[in-house]
Amino acid sequence: MYNQSIETMPLEELRALQNARLSSLVQRVYKDVPFYKQWFDNAGVSPDDIKTVDDLRKLPFTKKTDLRDNYPYGMFAKPMSDIRRIHASSGTTGKPTVVGYTQNDLDVFDEVVARSLACAGAKPGMVLHNAYGYGLFTGGLGVHGGGTKLGMAVIPVSGGMTERQLTILQDFKPDVICCTPTYAHTLAEACKKHGIDTKKLNLKYAVLGAEPWTEAIRSQVEEGLDVSATNIYGLSEIIGPGVSQEDFEEKGSGSYIWEDHFYPEVVDKDTGEPLPYGQEGVLVFTTLTKEAFPVLRYWTNDICSIYYDESKKRTHIKMSNIKGRSDDMLIIRGVNLFHTQVEEVINELDFLIPNYQLHVHKEGIMDTVEVHVEVREGVSHEDEALIQQFSKRIKNSIGLSMGVQLKRKGEIPMSEGGKTKRIIDFRK
Ligand code: ADP
Repeated sequence: MYNQSIETMPLEELRALQNARLSSLVQRVYKDVPFYKQWFDNAGVSPDDIKTVDDLRKLPFTKKTDLRDNYPYGMFAKPMSDIRRIHASSGTTGKPTVVGYTQNDLDVFDEVVARSLACAGAKPGMVLHNAYGYGLFTGGLGVHGGGTKLGMAVIPVSGGMTERQLTILQDFKPDVICCTPTYAHTLAEACKKHGIDTKKLNLKYAVLGAEPWTEAIRSQVEEGLDVSATNIYGLSEIIGPGVSQEDFEEKGSGSYIWEDHFYPEVVDKDTGEPLPYGQEGVLVFTTLTKEAFPVLRYWTNDICSIYYDESKKRTHIKMSNIKGRSDDMLIIRGVNLFHTQVEEVINELDFLIPNYQLHVHKEGIMDTVEVHVEVREGVSHEDEALIQQFSKRIKNSIGLSMGVQLKRKGEIPMSEGGKTKRIIDFRK
């Protein structure tokens, strides 16, 4: 069984634990990772200057480019003989980011995912349908290990082959499903299409992550699969899924960050200055316990805020839902735009379903966005009044005029399990 008491540890004790772990971490990386030795020296900071988490602000950030410059193993703090697993992020641009785990790191990974699954409502003895991709992506094996640690029976389904997923959902009777939110939506739609009565499935909980999502998708998935859906967040550079998790009884109030292992900061995206709790900026993590691939002040590029929620079950800090990655943020005629803002507008209109794409074009010197979104069954995609209504709602909520194309149900490709591309940029 994993250690539950740490989730309610009084904050002063948690801080003392973080500080002790940080002091040991900075000594280790200075000694074992040439990149970090130079990084400290260039910043004129000694590892001895970093005694508490508040001292972190003396240090610069570790960026994705640093990991790429040290591809593949230059950031590892342990020899290969101590490494037990290697994962890599998708690396859509340039080389992938390679991360390694010692046995202890894998134990921590199992622990934080087990905690996350329990926080989502899962219990020992339940059956877990794991539809995250198995392979270099951390989702499949990460969730698998955590499910096993919690005491669940894990079905390693992986992504894709939707009809086979439906057979497993009906016949193997899993209690919990893990996948991307868009794939859960695909499965909900597939159940409807095949006339599957979801009340007869045994599913109770859906643990969804790996991409930004909103209440729009939550309500579609909860209704379509008859489950309680919560958010799991993570990234391979920090460990994989299980960096933070939303509680199934505290939905909508953010996700607990397991800060005994991952110390978070939110900083201004332009100046790098730490921001007060509750203010939105770039999420930055320091891995307090990682052995093989420790990172200090890692700039995730993800935009959110962090805050303590004292009325809730656990003492750990929470993060708001990720709006998007700062490099996914569109700047259209001077207005910052994340696709999740459009998704929120879609959710307010009951003739639309949240299967959509934003097409970005350049017309002369002007950047333009056209929203392609599917209509509900029985609604005409040519209804001029609905097009006008949607377009006006976008202008009022987001402050930008966008083109609108309503599409018939099924016209926009659905998720097959991986991360969904919402923005198609024709300017490049
Ligand atoms: P890649 O960089 O190839 O996508 P990862 O699997 O490590 O590799 O992806 C991590 C990223 O996925 C995060 O930095 C974040 O942008 C996104 N992500 C993961 N989980 C969530 C979530 N629950 N909500 C929003 N975004 C998420």
